[in-house]
Amino acid sequence: MTRTRTPPRITVLGSTNMDLVAYVPRAPRLGETVTGHDFRTVPGGKGANQAVAAARAGAHVSMIGAVGSDDFGPRLRAALADSGVDTSLVRTADGPSGTAHIVVDDDGANAIVVVPGANASVTGVTPEDEARIAASDALLLQLELPLDAVLAGAEAARRHGVRTVLTPSPAQPLPHELLALIDVLVPNEHEASGLAGVADPRAAAEELLRDVPEVVVTLGAAGSLYVARGARPVTVPARRVRAVDTTAAGDTFTGALAVALGEGRAVPDALAWASAAAALSVGRAGASSSMPYRAEIDAF
Ligand code: AMP
Repeated sequence: MTRTRTPPRITVLGSTNMDLVAYVPRAPRLGETVTGHDFRTVPGGKGANQAVAAARAGAHVSMIGAVGSDDFGPRLRAALADSGVDTSLVRTADGPSGTAHIVVDDDGANAIVVVPGANASVTGVTPEDEARIAASDALLLQLELPLDAVLAGAEAARRHGVRTVLTPSPAQPLPHELLALIDVLVPNEHEASGLAGVADPRAAAEELLRDVPEVVVTLGAAGSLYVARGARPVTVPARRVRAVDTTAAGDTFTGALAVALGEGRAVPDALAWASAAAALSVGRAGASSSMPYRAEIDAF
């Protein structure tokens, strides 16, 4: 019943954030000031990251979301467009763009404050959004927009028979109503355990099949696990790479997975291809900047 074509059309309803990253010897305590040794502004947000991953992996990608009326707005939009993402449905909301304030210490540990900014203004889908979703082969969703928007997007996709892929991150309890509209759930092991209330990832995935027909649990360097109703579980090892920066590995994986599924590839093949894409991004520094293009994934 799900549509497939090459290249697939993928719509992402999700967040855009500017990541403001300070590199410090150690994180400050409340009331304390520490001097950092480096600073970067990096376009991010789980929605935008998945959009870039899918576009670089070869899909026609449209982003639905919002940036702010500040200086970050045009930069966030341009970062998407540079990777070939259609931003015509990205609104400009009055006020600040979404920002993530990240402190990374010399051990690589981080502390993050996310301020949703413009992302909070996305509370539903417009008729134009719905038309774009209807013309897609898959809708990618995460949880960095208000839940009402995620729900409205999933409802629109269901009305038009469009496959929905949800990354349940940041972790939070989800209404049954939303899960019932999801075709493929892609949690990491912590999110899977949290949602299912079961520690073991395999058991958690099986539990989640009560609500969702297909579940892919990502297991970091241990790869990924696929379970579906009435099918044998599939485990796919991660590709061996020297991990330089695992930021956005999951978003790279999900973006590439959606492309492969949209092209009609069988699940084991799609998972292997997504693992290759994620491994390539893990092997280099950066978030969306480290995401591979299709030719690199095919060659890896
Ligand atoms: P995660 O979000 O950490 O579960 O990672 C998502 C996917 O990225 C995994 O399923 C792997 O395919 C890949 N990945 C993550 N960490 C590594 C790593 N250290 N080496 C190779 N692949 C990785």
